[in-house]
Amino acid sequence: MIKTEQLVHDYEVRDDEGNVSGTVRAVDGVSLDVQPGEFIAVLGHNGSGKSTLAKHLNALLYPTEGAVWVDGMKTDDDLKLWTIRQEAGMIFQNPDNQIIGQVVEEDVGFGPENLGVPTAEIWERVEEALKTVGMWEFRKKSPNRLSGGQKQRVSIAGVIAMHPKCIIMDEPTAMLDPGGRHEVIRAARALNDVEKITIILITHHMEEAIYADHIFVMDEGKIALQGTPREVFAHVEEMQQLHLDVPKVTLLAHELRKSGIPLPEGILTKEELAQALGLSGVSDAQDR
Ligand code: ADP
Ligand code: MG
Repeated sequence: MIKTEQLVHDYEVRDDEGNVSGTVRAVDGVSLDVQPGEFIAVLGHNGSGKSTLAKHLNALLYPTEGAVWVDGMKTDDDLKLWTIRQEAGMIFQNPDNQIIGQVVEEDVGFGPENLGVPTAEIWERVEEALKTVGMWEFRKKSPNRLSGGQKQRVSIAGVIAMHPKCIIMDEPTAMLDPGGRHEVIRAARALNDVEKITIILITHHMEEAIYADHIFVMDEGKIALQGTPREVFAHVEEMQQLHLDVPKVTLLAHELRKSGIPLPEGILTKEELAQALGLSGVSDAQDR
């Protein structure tokens, strides 16, 4: 679905007069491969190059060096630009900057309308997209009246209505409360599970990454660590050196293991920890 080969991105830095005074290397030799239908998480501290990478995956930026392909199309091919942007949709952090319609259903219809989809089909797509994210009953509402999580789900519906093969989400939950975060992640997982849409989720919340098929951890523009969630989160100390957390349960299991309790590395859920400790029978009681 997506492939990058030795991707490099340099930003130009300008002085007060607007002259180019240097460059910042934001992405530094990233090669990755994403298969159709995968759920990918990208982790990394602020400034590690995640957003810059994301913008290459739907041709919002062009490579300084190296190359990016989306569904076999090279992103520096101007003739393919609109096909690439339709196939690889993008969701940003702030839902307020992505919603332009006065009414939810109208907002979701803008994308397909711009693609030249016939009117009758636009309405079918709007209905399908809003039902997919659980926002159908809000179709006549003004987006201003929605919660952050609801707005972000409307943004996602707007992308779904363009029938993308892939959705890149750049910290879609960063501005949401825990309830909103949960709604958005549930919608993203359903799109992947049910609609088989490839998802690339950039996030700061480690718990959101445990369901991914594969995690890429970025540091200084490079991929510092990658693997399944279990593989990546088994590297507790390396993650901490990269200024990242691991899920709380993983950390607890890691500390217990260091104090001599024989537990495997890379435990991801409460249930796994309870089972490894031989407490599976009392898992109901552990929340109390
Ligand atoms: P992240 O999303 O992981 O926080 P970014 O991709 O936004 O990282 O930024 C990577 C690096 O590129 C940072 O050092 C950042 O300051 C720099 N950068 C990002 N955008 C620009 C820009 N438009 N001009 C110059 N430097 C930029
Ligand atoms: Mg960013």
